[in-house]
Amino acid sequence: CGIVGFTGKAQVAPILLDGLAKLEYRGYDSAGIAVEDAAGKIEIVKAKGRLRVLSEMTDGGTTVPGTCGIGHTRWATHGEPSVVNAHPHYSRDHKIAVVHNGIIENYQELKDRLAARGYEFVSQTDTEVVAQMVDYYYCGESAGNALDAITRMMMHVRGSYALGILFADQPGVVYAVRKDSPLIVGRAEQGNLIASDVPALLKYTRTVYYIDNQEIVRMTPDEIEFYNIDKERIEKTPSTIEWDA
Ligand code: GLU
Repeated sequence: CGIVGFTGKAQVAPILLDGLAKLEYRGYDSAGIAVEDAAGKIEIVKAKGRLRVLSEMTDGGTTVPGTCGIGHTRWATHGEPSVVNAHPHYSRDHKIAVVHNGIIENYQELKDRLAARGYEFVSQTDTEVVAQMVDYYYCGESAGNALDAITRMMMHVRGSYALGILFADQPGVVYAVRKDSPLIVGRAEQGNLIASDVPALLKYTRTVYYIDNQEIVRMTPDEIEFYNIDKERIEKTPSTIEWDA
């Protein structure tokens, strides 16, 4: 189980596959990537089994255009290992894509509530409820404010999560948040990155930010912003990685 994400000046899919390979030691049963093109269309490619399968499907990532995306290796906790259950997961109408490490303990209750509001679920995962719930607020009370929709989702879910989130109407922006699952941010020459662990970033940068519980990250190719759950901007100090993986 691992998460990577990148937004910057380079083709993203090969970077995601490379980062996921560096996280292979964490174990996984399936893998996938979501890449957003300049027009905001989010394309998802996923596969059961080895990362090599995903790599072969995309020619090492080169056949997927785009410079902003998120990737995932899954260690199934809810729903069997399969292509449908592999991450990333779309929300309704493919407006949002989500990768998740961890467990949403109250997913069934939240799923039932969203289903009652017309949401249809395609997977058996606990994760899909996060995508649909962010969509529910983003397209409703939050009125297109991603930070607001994400914090509302955080107030409803119980459990552990590291999340990477893309919004189709915000090309080039990656959101990330964590609670009791690991997630770090890297600032690199070619762009900005997220990852579950340092080895996935070392090829690109040694400048990292450690994200604390319930802190939210918003990154573009040039900027990294951090927020607390009250949506207040916070300042964080970068650390320099002195060791080699
Ligand atoms: N609970 C999620 C699932 O089963 C995420 C598992 C993971 O951390 O990879 O899909």
